[in-house]
Amino acid sequence: MDNQEHSEQAAEYMRLAIPLMRKHGIAMTPANYNLWYEYVSGSNAALVDAVDRELEDTGTLNAQQCRLLFERFFDREKDKAAIIQVRQEMARLVKEVISFVNTGVVSSGQSSEKLQSLINNMHEDMKPQEIREIVEEAIVTVRHSASSSDILTERLNTTAREIQALKEQLEDTRRESKMDTLTGLANRRAFDELLARVTGFADENNQEVCLIFTDIDMFRSINDKHGHLVGDQILKVIANSLKGAFKGRDLVARYGGEEFAIVLLNTSLENARSLAEKLREDIASKRIQRKDTREPLGTITMSFGIARYVPSEGVDSFMQRADRALYMSKRKGRNCVSEAPPPII
Ligand code: GH3
Ligand code: MG
Ligand code: MG
Repeated sequence: MDNQEHSEQAAEYMRLAIPLMRKHGIAMTPANYNLWYEYVSGSNAALVDAVDRELEDTGTLNAQQCRLLFERFFDREKDKAAIIQVRQEMARLVKEVISFVNTGVVSSGQSSEKLQSLINNMHEDMKPQEIREIVEEAIVTVRHSASSSDILTERLNTTAREIQALKEQLEDTRRESKMDTLTGLANRRAFDELLARVTGFADENNQEVCLIFTDIDMFRSINDKHGHLVGDQILKVIANSLKGAFKGRDLVARYGGEEFAIVLLNTSLENARSLAEKLREDIASKRIQRKDTREPLGTITMSFGIARYVPSEGVDSFMQRADRALYMSKRKGRNCVSEAPPPII
């Protein structure tokens, strides 16, 4: 997509977002605009789903609901540093480009004044979207200017490309923030988000969702005996086994230190149990050895708890039941699978 198309698309999303916000009585704040821009662009299915679900109840979103949605999808503490950096970088690029006006590349006149006023409107707290709009306006101004120079047009186009690259970098940062760095599995944040989404969906559509919680047995003693680095190596081996065992639409996440969670969609409790049993056997039969000395590390075993979601029980109850089932397995002597009884509703 070239710059012209980007700018047309941005304008189109704006034309769709603003009337929709008015229709639902949403306050025109930058955060809300961000949310609705993303909503009409349809690029984030989870966000669309979450907004639709909120709208279904009352047909509107109050300030609190908007704030929670914004925090959930945009305003994450961990992402903030990266976002600020990218935003400053964008502002710097645009300022540098537009200041060509003052270097005499473009002769004075209306377009020069317009570009100068664009510079004056720039500040470091601008959102990427606002910066992009300024660049787009600058491009249009230069295109329409009789004194337009090829150098300036080219430089502006380069800037637009650089901004696109920065945006992609920002998306990578967001993606990485959902990944556990040691194992490459989804992290707890990604797990929490997915589980909230699929259970919400199951409340409405009776879709079968099962959850497996699994925890390495006596891991502390493995660390104590061989050290943390060996412990980490074992975590990676286990993560690879989990990755190999569950593919496609199932989500495997590192939930905590040596605890993993697997969300299984359209899967019966019976199938979840046999998948967990198979995994338990696979791991217990592995011969793991130290990478450096090849010293055998003995058998590693894991305990499992499984639960099937009962529509409308809610995420907390679902997770608690799977967790209790896991601890049943620990009490039974570890290296086994336990099923959670249904919730008391
Ligand atoms: P149990 O069978 O009851 O689960 O016993 P456990 O020793 O595995 O249980 P506990 O939860 O008490 O201990 C978990 C240990 O896992 C504590 C910590 O030493 C270790 N651990 C947690 N995260 C990491 C990690 O990232 N790397 C390493 N090497 N060890 C970790
Ligand atoms: Mg453990
Ligand atoms: Mg544990």
